[in-house]
Amino acid sequence: MAEKTNYEIKLKYCPNCGESLLKTGSLLNEYWISEDTAYFCWCGDCSWRGEIIEVKRVIAPELVTS
Ligand SMILES: [Zn+2]
Repeated sequence: MAEKTNYEIKLKYCPNCGESLLKTGSLLNEYWISEDTAYFCWCGDCSWRGEIIEVKRVIAPELVTS
């Protein structure tokens, strides 16, 4: 039985040139690293490729404020 919840792709555009990653010639692949969601992108227009990771939690050193 298919899941009935609506699924939306959050990442749609190339972070380098802004072209749609959903059109023919580009690649957008979603996968998971533990509880984070990773998107591998390959832009067919400008050939930029890389990964963008949506994180659930951020661990960072304490920020210094002046
Ligand atoms: Zn691009």
